[in-house]
Formats: sequence, C-alpha cells, structure tokens
Amino acid sequence: MAAAAAGSGGSPALSSGGEEPPAGPESPAEEAVSAGPSAGFRLTAVRREPAVRLQHGVSGLEPLAWSEDHRVSVSTARSIAVLEQLSDIHSGGQELVIHRTAVPAPAAGCLLKVGSKKEVAECKEKFANSKDPTVSQTFMLDRVFNPEGKSLPPMRGFKYSSWSPLGCDANGRCLLAALTMDNRLTIHANLNRLQWVQLVDLTEMYGERLYETSYKLSKVETPRGELGDFAEFQRRHSMQTPVRMEWSGICTTQQVKHNNECRDVGSVLLAVLFENGNIAAWQFQLPFVGKESITSCNTIESGINSPSVLSWWEYEHNNRKMSGLIVGSAFGPVKILPVNLKAVKGYFTLRQPVVLWQEMDQLPVHSIKCIPLYHPYQKCSCSLVVAARGSYVFWCLLLISKAGLNVHNSHVTGLHSLPIVSMTADKQNGTVYTCSSDGKVRQLIPIFTDVALKFEHQLIKLSEVFGSVRTHGIAVSPCGAYLAVITTEGMTNGLHPVNKNYQVQFVTLKTFEEAAAQLLESSVQNLFRQVDLTDLVRWKILKDKHIPQFLQEALDKKIESCGSTYFWRFKLFLLRILYQSMQKTPSEVMWRPSHEDTKVLISDSPGMGSTEDDHQEEGTSKQASKQSLCEVSKGTDPDDPADDTLAHSSDVGGHEPMEEKLLEIQARIEAVEMHLTREHMKRVLGEVYLHTWITENTSIPTRGVCDFLMSDEGYDDRTARVLIGHILKKMNKQTFPEHCSLCKEILPFTDRKQAVCSNGHIWLRCFLTYQSCQSLVYRRCLLHDSIARHPTPEDPEWIKRLLQGPCTFCDSPVF
Ligand SMILES: [Zn+2]
Ligand SMILES: [Zn+2]
Repeated sequence: MAAAAAGSGGSPALSSGGEEPPAGPESPAEEAVSAGPSAGFRLTAVRREPAVRLQHGVSGLEPLAWSEDHRVSVSTARSIAVLEQLSDIHSGGQELVIHRTAVPAPAAGCLLKVGSKKEVAECKEKFANSKDPTVSQTFMLDRVFNPEGKSLPPMRGFKYSSWSPLGCDANGRCLLAALTMDNRLTIHANLNRLQWVQLVDLTEMYGERLYETSYKLSKVETPRGELGDFAEFQRRHSMQTPVRMEWSGICTTQQVKHNNECRDVGSVLLAVLFENGNIAAWQFQLPFVGKESITSCNTIESGINSPSVLSWWEYEHNNRKMSGLIVGSAFGPVKILPVNLKAVKGYFTLRQPVVLWQEMDQLPVHSIKCIPLYHPYQKCSCSLVVAARGSYVFWCLLLISKAGLNVHNSHVTGLHSLPIVSMTADKQNGTVYTCSSDGKVRQLIPIFTDVALKFEHQLIKLSEVFGSVRTHGIAVSPCGAYLAVITTEGMTNGLHPVNKNYQVQFVTLKTFEEAAAQLLESSVQNLFRQVDLTDLVRWKILKDKHIPQFLQEALDKKIESCGSTYFWRFKLFLLRILYQSMQKTPSEVMWRPSHEDTKVLISDSPGMGSTEDDHQEEGTSKQASKQSLCEVSKGTDPDDPADDTLAHSSDVGGHEPMEEKLLEIQARIEAVEMHLTREHMKRVLGEVYLHTWITENTSIPTRGVCDFLMSDEGYDDRTARVLIGHILKKMNKQTFPEHCSLCKEILPFTDRKQAVCSNGHIWLRCFLTYQSCQSLVYRRCLLHDSIARHPTPEDPEWIKRLLQGPCTFCDSPVF
C-alpha cells in the first residue's frame, strides 16, 4: 500500500475536469443562481429551543465543537463552556435537555520553557533593554514572550479545543484537549458529570523534553546558538507554541505482558501543530487516566511555513489503515505528511508527502475536515478532504487503486461574499456546512460522478430563523440532526447593536421522518450514539402525543424480522416518551415508585449514596425533574398546539381513560423491559457457561437467574432452556444463593430490579450481572434507568468485561 501510494506521492495534484478556479467574489446574479436549491435537496431549518446564553464572549478559532458523546464545547474568554445534550426520558418538556459544565481557564499564566530560569530572566532583561529597536520592540510586543502583558491587555481564555473520539476516558467517553490563548495545552476529563479534571499539561511536558535535549530534535543535529541570541530565543519559543491540535481515531497497539504474552491495547494519538511547522504526535494508551497513559511522543518536521491548521487523514482499504496528517498553511498550500509509528497494528503511512494544493496564493487555510466515504461508481472507499480558504471551499478526493493514489481536486466558489469563519462536516454522509460572519450558512452536499464528485449547495439564512444575527461558529451534531450556532445580535436598521450577547442556538437539519428512517436503518445500533436523532423523535412524540403509525409499523416489522435488541431498546424509548407526553403534570404515578425506592434504600443502608451519587442527583435528575415541573406548569408558549391537543383529548376522554391509557403504556414498557432483561440474562448465562467449571461459585447469582427465567410459564425460548439445562448440569444441584450482608439471610431471586431478604432488607440489583449491590456505592447509566456495581480486583476478566457494558435499556455509558 505504501509503495503504491508513493507512486504519485509528491507529484502535483491532478485536477478533475470542469473545475472552478478561485476567482473574485461572485456577482450577486451568479450568487442567486447557485443559491437556488435543486429540487432533491430542500432543507428547512427549524429553530430548536432553548438558546443558551454564554457568560463571556467567545474566543479563538472555530470556537464551537460537538463531541461524539453529545457535548458541545464553546471556547470563551474565561472558560470552555460545555453543553451536554441528554435524551431525557424523565421529562415531558419539549425543549432540548442540556446539562451545563465548564472547564475554567487556569489561574496562572503560561510561560514556555526556553532555558533555565536564571538564563531566561537575564535574556529577557537584555532584550527588553536592547539598544536595537527591532529586538526590544519585537520582544516587548510579542505575546508569547510576554503572556502577562504588563501594559498590554491580559491574554485570557481559550484559543482552540478538540474532542477525542468516544471511548478514551475511564468511562469510555470523550476527552477534551484545550489550548489557552497563552499556549497552555492540557487534556481534561469529566468523570462524575460535574467537574472537569485536568489530566496532563502537555505544554509543560513538551517544554521539559526540549530542555533535556537542548532544543535539538535529533542527536545528530548540530548545536544551535545561545539563548542570548534573539533568533535562538525566538526559535525555542516557536518550536513549542501550539497552533492547533487534533485527535486521531482509536487504533490498536500490541503490548507485551510480563509472561511474554501479547495483548491488544487501544490507543489514540494527539497531533499538535507548532508555529514553526513541527508536529508532535503524542500516543496515549486507553483508557487515558493521566501522565502514566503516555506511551510516546514523536516530533515530525513538516517544513511548512506559517502552518495554520491540521487534520488526520485516515483511510481504510481492505482492512488496512493508512494514516497521515493534513497540514494547511496561512499562505495557501495544503499537504499530507506521513506519520511513522511503530507498534500500531495494521498501521500504514505514505512514503513521502502528498501535495494537495501547492499555490502560494495567499488564501489562508482556515479549517480542514477529512471524511471517509464510499465511491459508488469506482466501488472503493475514498477520502474527501475539504478546506476552507478565504470565502471558498477547496476539496480533494483521494482514492487508492491498483494504479496508486489518485487525487482529484477543485474549489467551490460562490458560497459566501465574506470569508468563511467556521466549517463543520457530517461524517456520516460528507455533507459540509460553512458559515460567514453575516449569519449565512451554506450546506454543501457531495454528489459522486463517474470518477470524482461535485457539490450541490444551498443557503441557510439564519436571519429567517433567529432574526438579524452575526455568527461566530457552527458545529453539526454527530448524526447530522442539529446545527449549533454561536450568535450575537446583528445590525438593526443599519445600526450595530449596543450590547453583544453571545448565545449558542440550535436549528434542525433533518425532519422527524428522516431521523426515524436513519434510526431504523442504523448501522451502529446504539441509541446513545444517536442521541441527536432520538431527540428529534422525542420532540415529535411530545408534540403529537402519539407514536406515528409508520414508525410503529416499521419498528414492529424490524423486531419480527431480526432479533437485534437494538430495536427493542428503540421501542422502549418510544414508549417511555409516549408515557411522558401523556402526563398532564408530572404525576405522582410517575414519580412515586422511584422516590420510594430511594427512601427504602437510604433507610436501609445509612451510607448509601456516596457524595458522588448525591452530587449526581443534584446535578442532573433533580434538575431535570424540576425543569419538567416548571415547564409543564408554566405552559409558556400560548401558540403551542400540543397543549390544546392535551386539553382536548382529556376533555373528551375524561379523567379515567387517560389514566387507563397510562397504565396500558406502563404495562407495555414493563413487557419490553422484561424482554430486554431476559435477553441480557441469556447473555450473562452464556458467559457463565463459557468461563466456569463444574460446581463453581461466581459472584453472579447463576441459579437465581436460571430460576427466574424458567419461572414464567409464558416464556418459551428454546436457546434459553438448552443453555439453562447445561448450566444446571454443571452446577450439580448446588445453588450458591446470595446472602444479605445485614442479617445473613438468603436473598431470593424473585425480582429483576431488587433483592429483598426475609427481614425486609432491600438491595438493588446490578443490571449487568444481576448481583445484588450491597456496597455503599454503585454506578448508574446516563439516564438513571439502571444501576450497576463497580468492578472489584477479585473479579475475573470476563466479569469485568460484563461490567464494562453499556446500559441494557438505553445504551448509555454506566458510571
Ligand atoms: Zn437482611
Ligand atoms: Zn439506561
């Protein structure tokens, strides 16, 4: 592969025919023509409440980013505001449910390490008082040399932030890399849903490494000048001043254990582009917990002048992964650099750099996205690289065939009359969105042609949705359902606004029908990963107070034709939302059982509910229920037709039919939960069977689970029966019951959710292993519909693996 790619590597990029060269701004007439959406691609953007007010102005480049686990980060002058989107099943409110947290900017300024403290202080003194004005003035005005500023305004806030892929932190969620204005690059995780914790300071670590190697990148490099030379002083800063950083996808590395056995370990790379064109590729072992997770750090010299942006190029072909780094320059060029990494399984790279655009045309590359797609005519996978350059979009299609690497490129013009300030891409289908500061967003849809592709584009006028606004950044949600936009007030009657209120606002990019179809045909089969789509469905059901017929039918058909539990979880989700939509007020019926559960639990075990759990309660569920309370009772929107429907239906139907209906939905919910529980029980028993020998006692109440499954006469599952038969034979009449830790009585397995001993002590059951949770702390899924115990050091690997699973009802991570 590398050899094939090298064939055309380094040669100037080929161009596809009929390209539009970048030219001056289009005339209004031309713009109007290209603005007309073609019939097949009509998009209606609808406003989605709420708008989230930001406490501080936004800062940096591309200030908005949407993570794979549904958190939106916003770089501001004081902190990174994080808005987490939840697919709430406990609230009847129609608004998006957003949980807010923040990563504060560090209190202390950041000074790059360019030498020993004493030496640096002396040099700074020398440069500040230099007789040569080119030295003293350059020194005094440079914010990297003088982050504190003295007479200059302080450098506060964030320059850039970047989300890791899903599966990187200890809970299997995304990490956030944050770069401050004064060049401190740190990695953060949010493990308890409230606070963000800094895991490492990469700027500090990189500075130390450079100091130890005397600011040389290789041993053979000849020593450079002394720090006292202004040029050397500048060089040592520029080689560690981060411009941007980006995460790679998760890759597998091999680790040799003490007994010489090999083990596959997940790892992720963070590439950091520096001002001098160097790139540091940090490699981390997963889950990333801190300094000890760092496996290596390699520096690549790109030789690119004035680098402005980077992106990973990841191409998969015949199960082989090709990777590289795409770097753009403020002068115009774009190229892909090889990244050589040892120990990464199935990892290949280019033999030499590939130039995608070589003209120094002074159109700065502002943003680059790389999207893996499948070419339907060439019948192979390909990479679409898009870069915002001024007011144009430069695109490049890369295909690897037997003949080598094929590169097609062109520019899309006539998009904006002002430079593009932000660009975002829907990774599922390659749709690109660009935005200029005047509130205009363009949607670009790639259309494959025989050899390459072309773009259809259409205008989304945000003024029609939000009124006159200025736009500062956009980000598309993981499955393309929503676009988040940072806005401030636009001009009114030709006057600039007096105040600048920064807000994050949301618009829909898909209809409910499109979202439902995408969920039904999903290849990921995971509700949590598609929260943006399920939210569109949730919104529709809450508005209409019924599940649309076509969706119900399509879902039932899927359930009949394939056994995947995903469709059952989808059904459970719909029923839970339907239940919420029927609630006039958050009724006692809904809340009473969960309150009682908690009460019993607390009175039973005084220590239950660690501070962590209490906080969680404070942070989300209470907030959510409070929110739903006030939203429903307020009934704020007089135009909301949904309220009429509800009043109407309850007027006609009276009180009792509604209650009956709720009971009926409750019964259906119970039935689906039971099905999902049984399916998971079968899985757990399968693991028990695989991993245990005769008459072995495990922490899993195997006998109880078997009896529970067989106790229901109506349940007739041949696989379950056969499996249980085998297990019971292995257990050889032993029962291994669980015992109550308070009174030592036997805990019977009669209820899937809890265990009650004969003295009335109640313990919740772990939904992943069905063991009763008798410890003081336990984990919960994001939606709080199930609990799970923590793994212990004594647990065998297979039980640890079971405990790593997502919630069996909602697919969300459990922590
Ligand atoms: Zn007891
Ligand atoms: Zn759940």
